[in-house]
Amino acid sequence: MTHNSAKLHVIGLETPPFPCTEGSSMSPASSLRRPAFIAGLAAAVVAAVILYPSAKDNSVSTESVAYRAAGISFGAAGKDMRVTKTLNASGVTIKRSQQYINGMPVFGGEIVEFVGADGTTTAALGKVAKESQGQHPADDQNTQNRVRRSGVATFPGQDNKATSAKQVWFDPALFGMKGAAAVPAYQVETTAGTSVVEAASGTVLWKSPKEKEALNRAVCDLNNKSVEGRLQDYACGVAVKPGKTENGGNSQQKDVNNVFKFFDQSSTFYNGELKFDLTQNIGADYGDGVGKALRGTVRVCFNGQACPLTNAFWDGTQMTFGEGVTTLDVTGHELTHGVSQAVNGLGGQGEPGALNEGMSDIFGAFINQANGAAGADKWLIGKGTALGVIRDMANPGAHQQPDKFSQKVNTQQDNGGVHINNGIVNKTAFLVTDGQNFNGQNIKGIGSKKAIQLFWLVENSLTSSSGLQDWGKTVNAACKQLSGSGTLSAADCAEVAKATKATEVG
Ligand SMILES: [Zn+2]
Repeated sequence: MTHNSAKLHVIGLETPPFPCTEGSSMSPASSLRRPAFIAGLAAAVVAAVILYPSAKDNSVSTESVAYRAAGISFGAAGKDMRVTKTLNASGVTIKRSQQYINGMPVFGGEIVEFVGADGTTTAALGKVAKESQGQHPADDQNTQNRVRRSGVATFPGQDNKATSAKQVWFDPALFGMKGAAAVPAYQVETTAGTSVVEAASGTVLWKSPKEKEALNRAVCDLNNKSVEGRLQDYACGVAVKPGKTENGGNSQQKDVNNVFKFFDQSSTFYNGELKFDLTQNIGADYGDGVGKALRGTVRVCFNGQACPLTNAFWDGTQMTFGEGVTTLDVTGHELTHGVSQAVNGLGGQGEPGALNEGMSDIFGAFINQANGAAGADKWLIGKGTALGVIRDMANPGAHQQPDKFSQKVNTQQDNGGVHINNGIVNKTAFLVTDGQNFNGQNIKGIGSKKAIQLFWLVENSLTSSSGLQDWGKTVNAACKQLSGSGTLSAADCAEVAKATKATEVG
């Protein structure tokens, strides 16, 4: 049995929109997730770095010694290595070269060398083909059409298109597969990934889906159509075609454009402040050719519920919004649920659920502040949405939330009060950042720059069973770690300790 509501993190105080789904062994979310195809094999390409041996060997060049130490040897395929790149990383000069056979590159036949100050190679890594077999057929239109068709078919999806097909050699041994020699092939680039296709037969020899480092977004508009509460009924890229992606789409719908922009602002915050790539870590690939992307569907309605829907949630793979609830703080809040799912596994029930909601409010607010929210708006959640302000982190009591542990609400509603008791977490974060005279403690705030780093370490240090007072201990322990590394001072941690004492969690 799958209990859908356990995965939902609604922003409001309503009960989750879905009843239990009976008789299904697999959640819609997990059935749509696709593993990155053969990604694990790519690691086999990287050879170990072997240091330049100390043994004196004057009979060969320095380069040959380093190659030999790395197990790199050239057979009949020949030593036609061409330098493709020289760069400096962390003070080390790196030279990268590509193997060629009969004037055509060997796919994956590369050597990386570390070059010393005197210009000699001190160490090398990489693999090259030793033998080759056969010849490339004529590179005519028929061959091009055949290999491009195979390349496109490798990644099913209506948007997948071939962008280039070039002659290469492919040696299966370089990728840890069986094979005695490099064979004539084509490297076919498509919008969804790279395929290596045997030149003669069109058989796919290797494929690698596109792993975009850059932000990738897909936002869809359901236009207030009421659907069942299953992911496949509203999934962006599955149930409905994206109105906007990195490759275009000129949706004029306000919520679509808002969410597209808020994904960017949230990603910029996570990348810049925390070195955490949202697309890579919490993006979803639905196999629709868009690749791994931050996905959202706006103007969603559900059968049997008021429409427009005045709520938003992270459902485990993507974001979902009712009409007019698309604000930056809500987007940051929902994306952070995805982050929590990835880094600490906090669920959506009871005290761990309240922590989950609290961490989402904290980073939603920090993202909002990084983009201009100031003054009285700094700690408000939901301002500008159809719901109006739903929480005030500086003053949780204004929205019937507790602000200290002794006032924790024990209830069966709201999955055990997850949107109620997160007021305790929120108040603590406010006190740590801005300070206040509260509950017998006069706290001087440490400011958002330090608080962001502190709460990011906390986010990464929680477990799926953490409760409110575990969280308080974690906040203080994380502060001590950062104090040791120089990010925060011992004086800062004394203020943090006062804040957790004031809210009675630490
Ligand atoms: Zn939430």
